[in-house]
Amino acid sequence: MKTIIRNIGTLVSGDIRAPQLDADSIVIQDGRITAVGRRLDDDADVVIDARGTTVMPGLIDSHVHPVFGDFTPRQRTVDFIDSAMNGGVTTAISAGEVHLPGRPKDVVGLKALAIVAAKSYANFRPGGVKVHAGAPILELGLTESDFAEMAAAGVKLVGEIGLGSVRTGKDAAPMVRWAKQHGMTVTIHTGGPSIAGSSPINAEVVLEAQPHVVGHINGGTTSMSPQEIERLVATDMALEIVQCGNPRTALHTLRTAADARATQRIILGNDAPSGTGVIPLGILRTLSLLASVGGMAPAEAIACATGNTARVYALDVGVIAPGRAADLVVCDAPTGSVAHDALGALSAGDLPGISMVLIDGKITIGRSRNTAPAARAADVLKGVGPGIGGH
Ligand SMILES: [Zn+2]
Repeated sequence: MKTIIRNIGTLVSGDIRAPQLDADSIVIQDGRITAVGRRLDDDADVVIDARGTTVMPGLIDSHVHPVFGDFTPRQRTVDFIDSAMNGGVTTAISAGEVHLPGRPKDVVGLKALAIVAAKSYANFRPGGVKVHAGAPILELGLTESDFAEMAAAGVKLVGEIGLGSVRTGKDAAPMVRWAKQHGMTVTIHTGGPSIAGSSPINAEVVLEAQPHVVGHINGGTTSMSPQEIERLVATDMALEIVQCGNPRTALHTLRTAADARATQRIILGNDAPSGTGVIPLGILRTLSLLASVGGMAPAEAIACATGNTARVYALDVGVIAPGRAADLVVCDAPTGSVAHDALGALSAGDLPGISMVLIDGKITIGRSRNTAPAARAADVLKGVGPGIGGH
């Protein structure tokens, strides 16, 4: 099956080194991007007219707390992942299935939970979203063979270190080494505890543990100090800014990373569901914060929520280039905005209106049911369009 998207006004690449592409068309074959260029014309099964609006890679939420399916026990909400897809999220990465009622903390139980979560989301995409889950919470007593066993069963992540009994750098360091040896990507909770009973995690612990990702560097919800953030920006770890954190230290992280020419290490997450709630437009809101108050070029901010994250987690999404999965968002300035296009809207502090989302080249929605209406909406000129929905 071949799809072509034509008449793209602005094409955001997802690659922070070259965040905008000089092209107006994308050709998709069997779910993958095969060509990006100007005035491409092809005998496609589906022809989409972007009507001069913006196309960007599907957003990646690097910090989600799913459990099973599209239900969160934490806020007793159904369809929250489908709702996030209506906010442009096409890939979600679990930072730990911590909200499972009665979550097991013994070694056998935590391994079983991680394996089932990884396998169940591999078999099921809520709203079409690619959920990477199975992120075990480290507890004392885990051995290297436990990591080998989980990896062999499809576990590729380690959830936020610090939410279990492993809370010090000394305890975490050997486990992080084992996880890395077995191909897992590791994140760590930082800042004040999110729940009673756990302890703060500061820069010292992170430096000793050596995870891949400094989880919610701006707090989840209580942030580390600006000085600690500066110490962690001066490493080679990914720096995760979350919506459900501290906006002041989010911007401090951005400024410090920009000064250090390290914005390619910034990734964006929601840290939801959480006590803060479920925030379907959370990634868009974070983009708007970085671009409007933070002054970051909006296409670079989008790269933080797409290509940067794909690199950290070795995913074949997040960048618009031949060979990549065709996970795409078509958007524009919302009706009534002072801005005239999606990037201008982000710079102005508004949220773009989404008029179409594609995952693996398949249209999942037309007009989003969650964003404000896009001033100009993509249109399907040939082939099967999106189902009824939206505004
Ligand atoms: Zn956390």
